[in-house]
Amino acid sequence: MNSDHNDLIIIGGGPAGQSAALIAGRTRLKTVLINAETPRNLVTTASHGFLTRDGVHPSELLAIAKEQLQRYPSVQYVADQVEAVDRIDRGFSVTTSQGTILRTSRLIIATGHRDHLERLNLPGIESVYGKSVYPCPFCDGYEHADEAIAVFGFEAIQHFVPMMRLWSNDIVVFSNGRPLDTALKAELTDHGVAVEEAPVDQLMSDNGKLTQVVLQGGRSIPRQSGFVVDDYSSPATHFAESLGVVANDNNSWNMPVMANESGTTSIPGLYLIGDARIGFSGIAAAASEGGFCVEMIAHDIAMERWNSLSEVTR
Ligand SMILES: Cc1cc2nc3c(=O)[nH]c(=O)nc-3n(C[C@H](O)[C@H](O)[C@H](O)COP(=O)(O)OP(=O)(O)OC[C@H]3O[C@@H](n4cnc5c(N)ncnc54)[C@H](O)[C@@H]3O)c2cc1C
Repeated sequence: MNSDHNDLIIIGGGPAGQSAALIAGRTRLKTVLINAETPRNLVTTASHGFLTRDGVHPSELLAIAKEQLQRYPSVQYVADQVEAVDRIDRGFSVTTSQGTILRTSRLIIATGHRDHLERLNLPGIESVYGKSVYPCPFCDGYEHADEAIAVFGFEAIQHFVPMMRLWSNDIVVFSNGRPLDTALKAELTDHGVAVEEAPVDQLMSDNGKLTQVVLQGGRSIPRQSGFVVDDYSSPATHFAESLGVVANDNNSWNMPVMANESGTTSIPGLYLIGDARIGFSGIAAAASEGGFCVEMIAHDIAMERWNSLSEVTR
């Protein structure tokens, strides 16, 4: 393990962090990628929508990325968990669970989000999550087209349900004990979408495949697959907050985020990319953010080196 000052440390090696490391390697930046190897979508059997790798298992995608990273000698891959991050003179220090302390002038946080299924209050969700019930129709809607689909949620239903019609006309909304706005309910019903407001008692399934949604009171609605609208995730780490990053509300979803699209935060030298930045980026966008962020960092480093050289020769 190197103890020198690095150009870049990347915490988290999902699509965002691996892509950042790849471009860092190609730019010959002295880089350490530290990864606890628990990507968010490991629960799924297939990852969709990433060019040339549509349908591969999430672990296969990352194994290929890891293998290809080995071509680049300036990048060191460390399978470990980062426990603490601190500001130091000329950058940041990073402490891992094995007690190793590393230093860097630039730090990328790519630690993703974690799903808290217990927040959904849907007994039985663990058996079907990533197998027939998912968070993202763009990721998994195609495989369940024209099925009897359950939409679980309350907030943003009015945007989500019209979109779900791209995949199926047979949709039942389960608001799980929360009464929907009367006008919205009428609009959904007018469009042939059934609404069930009673609390969900149990999701029944067979080998990961959703079969029935059982409501309190005993009624049972047959469904083959489902999508969850409500947000039930949180950042996997809080390093950005602990370092003092300030959120802004400057993004296209009108959500407060702590970094702009190149990953830049309110703290010079500190970057946030992928799900860690936006909550749910998807694999292609996470990989794109990783590459773009490192190109910005490389530009800064190049100018720093260029200017220090001219000071010496002046
Ligand atoms: C069920 C499900 C299905 C999905 N299907 C798809 C799909 O088909 N297509 C698609 O495009 N997207 C899909 N997604 C979304 C996709 O998984 C995420 O958007 C994507 O993984 C984000 O990449 P990331 O690199 O930002 O984070 P992640 O992939 O979550 O990677 C974060 C990495 O950081 C590491 N880490 C966390 N904390 C630490 C720490 N303290 N120290 C060191 N390392 C740490 C983790 O171990 C992990 O390896 C799905 C998500 C879910 C939940």
